[in-house]
Amino acid sequence: MKEVVVLGAGYAGLKTVVLLQKKLKNNVHITLVDRNNYHYEATDLHEAAAGTQSASRITYPISDVINPQITTFIQDEVVKIDPDKKTVKLAGHEELLHYDYCVLGLGFVSETFGIPGAEENALPMTNVKEALAIYDHIIAKMKDYRTTHNPDDLQIVICGGGFTGIELAGALVDARASYAKIAGVSPDEIKITLIEASTRLLPMFSEKLAEYGVNLVKSLNVQLLDGSRISKIEPGKVIYKHGDDDEESLNAGIIIWTTGVSGNPLMEECGFDAKRGRVIVTDHLTDPKHDDIYIIGDVAAVMPPDGKRPYPTTAQIALAMADYTAEDIVSRIKTGKHEAKPFTYKSLGTVASVGNTRAFGEAMGHELRGYPASAMKKIIADRSLLETGGLKELFAKGRFDLYH
Ligand SMILES: Cc1cc2nc3c(=O)[nH]c(=O)nc-3n(C[C@H](O)[C@H](O)[C@H](O)COP(=O)(O)OP(=O)(O)OC[C@H]3O[C@@H](n4cnc5c(N)ncnc54)[C@H](O)[C@@H]3O)c2cc1C
Repeated sequence: MKEVVVLGAGYAGLKTVVLLQKKLKNNVHITLVDRNNYHYEATDLHEAAAGTQSASRITYPISDVINPQITTFIQDEVVKIDPDKKTVKLAGHEELLHYDYCVLGLGFVSETFGIPGAEENALPMTNVKEALAIYDHIIAKMKDYRTTHNPDDLQIVICGGGFTGIELAGALVDARASYAKIAGVSPDEIKITLIEASTRLLPMFSEKLAEYGVNLVKSLNVQLLDGSRISKIEPGKVIYKHGDDDEESLNAGIIIWTTGVSGNPLMEECGFDAKRGRVIVTDHLTDPKHDDIYIIGDVAAVMPPDGKRPYPTTAQIALAMADYTAEDIVSRIKTGKHEAKPFTYKSLGTVASVGNTRAFGEAMGHELRGYPASAMKKIIADRSLLETGGLKELFAKGRFDLYH
């Protein structure tokens, strides 16, 4: 009987478990560990932060997809992986976990790039608790405004105008009227500002498509300060520099941090050869020094054949890595060898939402705008729900409002 320990029930870890359960009925026991007893769709966090989706809509219980005859789920915090002793230590369990194969899918954390005050004075958005904290803070500020009449309470600043910042701005626009009602003001008094260092936003898209996206966001009364480098965050204040100009500042009651993410710092802490929480993995998605450890999802850096820069970390590649890992583990359990061909990846495209009914992106070589893009975004999310959560989660949490 082989023991497979999977750490993290995000896109990468949970799909690996679901596939292993389907492919291996005997000769294996799986232990899955996550700090939460639910899986969350990280790609929808901005909607929970804005309040346009409830947390329950973007999560489902891990127990829904676990086959208890093969898999044991442990809700706990992973604190140490010892690759030499082949053990995992959890915060709340004395006993160590032992494995034949370990799958690390511990995901991403917020990256502040050492900008002073960012950690203390801006709200990150990398998991459900953080997304709900943002929503609670927005609502508290809107309520405060009724007594303070301080316009800063109505000012929302998103630090970082990348993919996540743009999607968040779109969701906030959708919720603007409801915030205004709470504050007792008109919707256009709720100011939404994106601050971004680069002047070429959304580099994953062609120049024309990125321009379309940026103009779409601006047309929704979102102020964009591009070419603006954030130098410091003070309580209620973002300090930035536009080109060679003097420093400027923007007061805001709500400051949200979406400048970027890195892989889980546990990777470095456990002695893996990681940079910003990511390990450059082998062709079989294993740790270069430990062939029994698979490193997948946002903690992995996968080099494309041209070998220049790793593929961007996305849910899409995390799911593809899970497919590969499950297949490779099955072949090793059955034959003792890596029978799967080296991992290869081809992106199916990327679509960014700007609220519930607006989107733009590229899928299977075609650029999409407007309604087809928005429908495609929901279809992509539904497919991922179906593949990992099955029909039950698809029907309970899927996006079927395709026509609008
Ligand atoms: C707002 C937003 C929009 C996005 N949109 C897209 C998109 O449109 N398309 C796309 O492809 N990608 C998108 N992404 C990126 C995508 O969400 C990530 O690449 C993806 O979530 C990575 O999957 P993962 O399984 O590696 O990690 P995660 O989804 O981060 O899962 C990691 C899991 O590990 C658990 N965990 C972490 N540390 C510990 C610990 N110490 N102990 C126990 N458990 C732990 C966490 O609870 C979590 O369940 C978006 C991200 C954000 C934030």
